Amino acid sequence: MSKAAEPGPEAPLSSMPYPPLHTDKKFVVLSDWDGTITNRDSNDFMTDTLGYGAEKRRQGNLEILAGRETFRDEFRRMLQSVVANGHTFEECKEVLKQNISLDSGFEEFYNFCKANDIPVVIISSGMAPLIRAVLSKLIGEEESKNIEIVANDAVVQPDGKWEITYRHPSSGFGHDKSQAILPYRALPSPPTIFFFGDGVSDMSAARHADVLFVKKKPGADNDLHAYCVREGIPHVLFEDFGRALGVVRQVVDGRLSVQEALALGTA
Ligand SMILES: [Mg+2]
Repeated sequence: MSKAAEPGPEAPLSSMPYPPLHTDKKFVVLSDWDGTITNRDSNDFMTDTLGYGAEKRRQGNLEILAGRETFRDEFRRMLQSVVANGHTFEECKEVLKQNISLDSGFEEFYNFCKANDIPVVIISSGMAPLIRAVLSKLIGEEESKNIEIVANDAVVQPDGKWEITYRHPSSGFGHDKSQAILPYRALPSPPTIFFFGDGVSDMSAARHADVLFVKKKPGADNDLHAYCVREGIPHVLFEDFGRALGVVRQVVDGRLSVQEALALGTA
């Protein structure tokens, strides 16, 4: 059973309907898509290969991390650089379908959640049509329909030019991911929320999950980890969903409390 979430008094204006809440579950998994469920960030990949390049993109990420730029404005500029180079939305979709792969443990993790009645919801600052296209290619169209995507969107003009539409245009996050978690707190018996993320787009959610899993990969940017260390936000580091499953399974089985899970520090 689910009901529409209602925005709290502090919630930013939403340009899209609030996503349904899972009101009768003990556990809910909310996860970032890019670089978390996928091995590489699709928007970084587009910006690096089709837009203004990795160096400028990385500088932008660091400005966001330092709080000197908003995610919303910097991310829009990254995507605009892809459009300015003449790449249509359909072309980007095809490029991503060819180049984006899943975290090696995600399917096992997802199957565990499915078998244990735990909804898995993608909470992304990317654009829903691109995520849906890549997810369908990776796990099949039918299975993909079982995974909700709460993300930003895109408008595509007849001439192929496109731009991102933000879920929360008045928020510096563009998509304030805390709004995917906070409505659960108002439920009579709120579920335990596991949140998974890796980057600057997850900073808005980091403080609000019951158990925050932060992906850390060798050679990757690991911005969410840097943010959580700086801000003193408790979290569990994980390298892939197979490792994270070990911890999630113990919490679901009642062998670990939320506090004990966080105290592990690493999956
Ligand atoms: Mg990410």
